[in-house]
Amino acid sequence: MCLFCKIVEKEIPSNIVAENENFLAFHDINPKAPVHILAIPKQHFESFNDVTPEVMAGMTSFIQQIVKDINIEKSGYRVITNIGENGGQEVKHLHFHILGGAKLKWGHFSDSDPKGMF
Ligand code: 5GP
Ligand code: ZN
Repeated sequence: MCLFCKIVEKEIPSNIVAENENFLAFHDINPKAPVHILAIPKQHFESFNDVTPEVMAGMTSFIQQIVKDINIEKSGYRVITNIGENGGQEVKHLHFHILGGAKLKWGHFSDSDPKGMF
């Protein structure tokens, strides 16, 4: 069973922010912003590549409700999902990073020259 499946099963403890039948959100163990929450489907999908539009519809509502509840909806935030090796995905269970609580920086995505990439 993967790490986040174990968190879903409560075999590994996590600091839960929100939970319903299909989704779970918990604080990232190594926060990169004042707010750093991970939102996951309870069902195991390796990444965004594999998830269905139906599950994404639920995920959208789930994230929208969380940002309202923790009061970052208006101040702004970022939702990120890393996919595969170039995306920097470390945990192979689909998760959405919700980052906020401060003005976030933007940039330096690659050591390659961005102009030479496409
Ligand atoms: P990725 O790099 O796969 O997009 O992000 C994985 C995230 O999971 C990282 O931000 C990392 O800090 C977080 N993480 C890894 N292991 C654990 C854990 O056991 N508990 C929690 N709450 N977060 C974790
Ligand atoms: Zn899993």
